[in-house]
Amino acid sequence: MIDVPFLTEAQIEAKADALLAAFSRDREPILGPPVPLEDKFLYYLGLRLHMDDLHARFGVPRIAGRTDILAALWIEDREIRVDESLDPEVNPEAEGRYYFSIGHEVGHWELHRHHILATSAEPHLLMQSPSPVVCRISDLNGGGSRKERDGTRQQRDGRARMELQANRFGACLLMPGFLIEVAWQHRFNNLDPVLVKDRQSIASELRLLLPSAVPGHKVSASPIAHRALEALITDFAGEFRTSRRAMRIRLQKLGLIFS
Ligand SMILES: [Zn+2]
Repeated sequence: MIDVPFLTEAQIEAKADALLAAFSRDREPILGPPVPLEDKFLYYLGLRLHMDDLHARFGVPRIAGRTDILAALWIEDREIRVDESLDPEVNPEAEGRYYFSIGHEVGHWELHRHHILATSAEPHLLMQSPSPVVCRISDLNGGGSRKERDGTRQQRDGRARMELQANRFGACLLMPGFLIEVAWQHRFNNLDPVLVKDRQSIASELRLLLPSAVPGHKVSASPIAHRALEALITDFAGEFRTSRRAMRIRLQKLGLIFS
């Protein structure tokens, strides 16, 4: 059983930022979005990327044609495989999930590979390759397969923790705080958060969340209409090649939108 250590969100973000800083130092500075994830970054890490029919590979049927297995990582082979249903050249709408899946696998590589290799040391001695890390939507929802549901609660929690950490790492890698700030500054000429003007309740929440307790700190936010907020999220998601949902969460976590 793989039991990865607990990491705070700040620790995960610091690890993603450190990786971005190392890439910028060793290869080329990242001055604006998008992060060159699928080519230069994977090459920098010595990882290869392939598209694959992962449901066929692992013998898991697609229920109602839906994709559950998004991607997988073979650590010893240094190989990431993304499910072919996310191929943005075939399915442009999947672009955000495609890049997020790659970021997620890089998260496993950076955060978990040593734990996974240590855990699979025994089969390795028997000349068997360690199993790949198989990433499924259902792993984040409490375990999808019957085998997983039958596992101990500790196993399910450990697995969910690993997936959550990889998701957070991927989000920080694809949408680094410093690049979001560059894009925000470019758009608004400031770093003030925005709030939807037709929801008064947010205003009081905002005053609580902003560092208003600091004496002399001016609490300011730009009120915008709901549709303008949606357009903003769409634009940023496009710039950073991520999904609208992932961008909304990231902007909320960075304290830039309140909705
Ligand atoms: Zn995963």
